[in-house]
Amino acid sequence: MLNKTNGLEPGAKGQARPLFGLFPEELKSVLEGFGQKVYRATQISEAVYRQRVTSFDEMTTLPAALREELVTAGYTVGMPEIVQAARSVDGTERYLMRLADGETVETVWMPDGDGGERGDGSEASLEEEESEGLEGNVSEFKTAVKRDLRNVGALEQNGYRRATICISSQVGCAVNCQFCLTAKLGVKRNLTGGEIAGQVAAVLNRHGVKIGKDRINLVFMGMGEPFLNYEEFIRSVQLLVKQIGIPESRMTVSTSGIEPAIRRFAQEPIRPKLALSLNASNDEVREQVMPITRKWKIHQLLDAVNTLPLGKREWVTFEYVLLGGINDQPEHAREVLDLLKGMKAKVNLIVWNPGPGIAYTQPKPEDVAVFQKMLIDGGMPAYIRRPRGRDIYAACGQLKRTVELPEAAPLVGIAPAANPPG
Ligand code: SAH
Ligand code: SF4
Repeated sequence: MLNKTNGLEPGAKGQARPLFGLFPEELKSVLEGFGQKVYRATQISEAVYRQRVTSFDEMTTLPAALREELVTAGYTVGMPEIVQAARSVDGTERYLMRLADGETVETVWMPDGDGGERGDGSEASLEEEESEGLEGNVSEFKTAVKRDLRNVGALEQNGYRRATICISSQVGCAVNCQFCLTAKLGVKRNLTGGEIAGQVAAVLNRHGVKIGKDRINLVFMGMGEPFLNYEEFIRSVQLLVKQIGIPESRMTVSTSGIEPAIRRFAQEPIRPKLALSLNASNDEVREQVMPITRKWKIHQLLDAVNTLPLGKREWVTFEYVLLGGINDQPEHAREVLDLLKGMKAKVNLIVWNPGPGIAYTQPKPEDVAVFQKMLIDGGMPAYIRRPRGRDIYAACGQLKRTVELPEAAPLVGIAPAANPPG
């Protein structure tokens, strides 16, 4: 019998073998194994990546007998499934995605993005600047937040102009940053390239996005450290670019700073833009908030970042989570300026998002304003990231699988999941 559910369940013979995640060449060898002509591989990749089907039943170009053979051999379509969705008052949606083995990760949809790309020279940033006229100062930031709230109704009626999808690269994270909720999970496993790219496909389906028509930006800023799952992260980029059709100029990857991986990344022919989570202005403070600093000091990370061959209109982003009283004082801003002097860079200031069991406080708004102004006056572009979806625990550093944290996730207006858990 054909697999009539979501294509996630393994076939009769053991482990699931997802088709989503295989490149056309790999599909060809699968099909050859079944004694099939190679054009069947093209049909499958069309169905999986262009039509984004979620079940074998929808693969109408394939003969039923072949579909059945694939199912019997354990093949699945293999797109992750949205099993829970929460919608913020600002239009952001957070999804719980179920993977083939039952593990879950979170993925976030942000209509209009979070401004995280501003100033990095990407297509997303240019659009943002054109449409908002944002110069990266505080009053404009407040206006943008108000606009987000106003826009929710309009977005629902008229669709969206553009959106950013934030994807996860691991189940949990091993890096243990002291301010981050994901760190509390530890790391359970790496995602495969197909599972990383599959999150995007599932969200595109949910919103009926047409690639080539709608403007979709991607940020690898969800759960996990992409550079500790390097091979599969790169595989996902290639799938997204070549098979799904999203250009790498619309992607940004954020890393906590894995020095050898940054050097490797700098050599990649196809790569997203880079964001480095600096989060402190000297090694002492950084070690306190990001213990991984014991392994790689700030100067090592900056040396590695400097090997990146930047495009004409490309800037490196340094993310800087402002923690009240810890790293948000004028002397810290001065140190940041010294560190980044001469680099083609910009700073994204992120006001710390609170989480249960994390003993930091948010910075005072006036400290945020002074910090930003000092950077700008010192010649370093500095932007404040719009917090998106805080009310549903979808903002930076708040991703922790909902199933494990129901009390901390007030689901404001739960939108029905595309495929409710069965
Ligand atoms: N692991 C990668 C990408 C995911 S985290 C990294 O650390 O870069 C994405 C961003 O969210 C990082 O810049 C991180 O410093 C920031 N972040 C983590 N927890 C946060 C919190 N509670 N509030 C605000 N930003 C946070
Ligand atoms: Fe992992 Fe990034 Fe959170 Fe650090 S901030 S624990 S690297 S997800």
